[in-house]
Amino acid sequence: MRFLLSNDDGILAHGLECLERAAAPLGETWVVAPDREQSAMSHSLTLHHPIRPMRRGERRWQVDGTPTDCVMVAVEALLPERPDFVLSGVNHGQNMGEDVLYSGTVAAAMEGLALGIPSIAFSFAGGELRADASLLEAQIPLLTTLIRHLTQLSWPGNTLLNVNLPPLIGPHVQGVRLTRLGQRYYSGSLKPMTDPWGRTVYWIGGGSATWTGPADSDFQAVRDGFVSVTPLHLDLTHRELITDAGTWWRAPALP
Ligand code: MN
Repeated sequence: MRFLLSNDDGILAHGLECLERAAAPLGETWVVAPDREQSAMSHSLTLHHPIRPMRRGERRWQVDGTPTDCVMVAVEALLPERPDFVLSGVNHGQNMGEDVLYSGTVAAAMEGLALGIPSIAFSFAGGELRADASLLEAQIPLLTTLIRHLTQLSWPGNTLLNVNLPPLIGPHVQGVRLTRLGQRYYSGSLKPMTDPWGRTVYWIGGGSATWTGPADSDFQAVRDGFVSVTPLHLDLTHRELITDAGTWWRAPALP
């Protein structure tokens, strides 16, 4: 089994090291990861300057690009053969609900999927990772079991799995739930500030998040102490609205 590992927190991130340690007993691991933090880069691709891979050891490359760049250059150029799975993360922080639209961690898995490789994104729903690092470290055996199990399932080819780990010591994790995306509302996350020239600028970040969603949603599973596994596909088409087109849609009359 050959695994390509990437992330959006950068090649030095503790979460990536934990993922590597968890996957190593199961097969050959290749790490191709950004040289710096690329969180919230979503699925962006670097088009306007070249990207330079730097070898950082055996089967280990650092790339001055986004998570999407890393997976693309890894699969198309750096690895001698295609990986069997792309594993992304473990992200420092949850990726639930609408987070998946901004997440570089999920985007790396999306890129794997777009290249036809089954892919799994892992995120750790802890607070400040520095404080919670030992919690994630204690989940490495659980993560190995999870990777072994998930990679043996036969999920449909157009799907990636988005996994969120609860911030608990390994034995306190309650189990694994199959979930759907919940909804998250941020408040106070746009901070007006004054720049050195007296102009108003805004810093996006911080604030507080409120979660809602059904009992089988991702955040509820994590809140209940479970690992959340959400199957995602890349087709954003709202199929029901096409089926129900008669209730709302009419084509415009062109001049
Ligand atoms: Mn991140």
